[in-house]
Formats: sequence, C-alpha cells, structure tokens
Amino acid sequence: MLSVAIDGPAGVGKSTVSKILAKKLGWNCLDTGALYRAIAVACKNNKTNINDINEVDKLLKKIQISVNFENGEQHTFVNGEDVTNFLRTKEMDMLSSVTSAYQNVRSSILDLQRNLAKQQNLVVEGRDITSNVLKESKNKFYLDASPQERALRRYNERLSKGEDANFDDVLQDLLQRDKNDTTRKIAPLICTPDSIKIDTTNLSIQEVVDLMYNNIKLS
Ligand code: C5P
Repeated sequence: MLSVAIDGPAGVGKSTVSKILAKKLGWNCLDTGALYRAIAVACKNNKTNINDINEVDKLLKKIQISVNFENGEQHTFVNGEDVTNFLRTKEMDMLSSVTSAYQNVRSSILDLQRNLAKQQNLVVEGRDITSNVLKESKNKFYLDASPQERALRRYNERLSKGEDANFDDVLQDLLQRDKNDTTRKIAPLICTPDSIKIDTTNLSIQEVVDLMYNNIKLS
C-alpha cells in the first residue's frame, strides 16, 4: 500500500491540505490528532485526572478507539460511540496536547494507525507520522509556518465558525501546544531528514497541495 506521511505543528493547515490532497489522489485521509482528541474526550467524560498517569492508564484499558471513513469523511469512535463532533474544541486542544505525551496513550493507538495504512492507500497527518508511525513511507512532508501566521489561521477559522476568539489567547495556546509537542520525551514533533519541508507562511492552500502532489511517488 502507498502512503503520504505529513507532520507539522498545530494550526499549520495540515488537515485542510491533507484532505484536499487525499481527494486528488482518490485516497482516504487519516487525521491522527482526532484519535488523541477522542482519548481526551473519554478522559473528560469519565472524569479522569489527566495529570495522573495511572488514572489515564486505567481508562485506556476500558476504551477502544476506532475509525470509519464515510464518503471520504473520517468518523472517530470511543467504544462504538461517534465522538467526531466533540473533538475540535479549545478544551480538547489542550487536554489532547497533555495526554498525548504519555507513552501508554501513544501505544494504545499505534496499531490502529498502522493497520489502517496497511489496508488502503492513505494520507496520514499528525506529529509523529514521518518519524514513527509510517517511518517507511516514501512520501514524507513537514509543513511549517510562523506562529503568528498559524495563530491567524486558527483565529479566522474560529470566527468563521461563529465562535468567540481572541488573537492573543489563540497565539498563547498555540505556543503552549508547540512546547508540549516538541519537548515531550516520547515521539516529539521533529522534521526528519528525509521529509520535504514546506514553509507555508506565504503560500496558498492550493500552492501547498500542488507542491506536495508534484513530489509524491506513486510507485
Ligand atoms: O492535530 P491536532 O491538533 O488535532 O492534534 C491534537 C493533539 O494530539 C496535538 O496537540 C498533539 O499533542 C497530539 N498529536 C500527537 N501525535 C499525532 C497527532 C496529534 O501527539 N500524530
């Protein structure tokens, strides 16, 4: 099976670009952040103290995360319940950023990610796809943009959804998540030497997609 592995920091536009790219290729796109967010939702629903690794461990033994693609759209489940609509909130941004640092959390969804990529050609985006989950992929990309530009994109996204947003808060949250993702001991966000690095700060979505598409090896 073929894959495209994409990593990059929060707010860089990975989800948007990955979905368009996957559509262009006729493949599905796996948003691995949704898996970490689903675990965070389960922590919240079960009143798990996310700072207590033993409590998180107990919870992990009780839950199963799964994924379905319906007409190209990813649905993410906890014990069979579709939690897709609860994943993209400010609260889950932060909860998932903390719990994703735990080894047991990461291990609990590693096979799921690898198995999905064994079953079908897949675009996979996250933080450790190029460095860990799909190390053998022939198509690796690292997307980057300045924190200010990423915060602006997130801020505009929130406003367009009709949500309240304050630019400085969005920027501070983003910098905190960058710190969590790049300094954690296990599978930190890095740009691997074999990834094509694209600075998207001054590029349109279409320009990023085209750049990636033109560099993908399909054999
Ligand atoms: O990409 P997204 O913002 O949805 O990811 C949510 C959180 O999950 C991130 O802040 C990051 O901490 C974590 N994550 C991860 N590894 C991945 C994907 C996401 O650690 N492959």
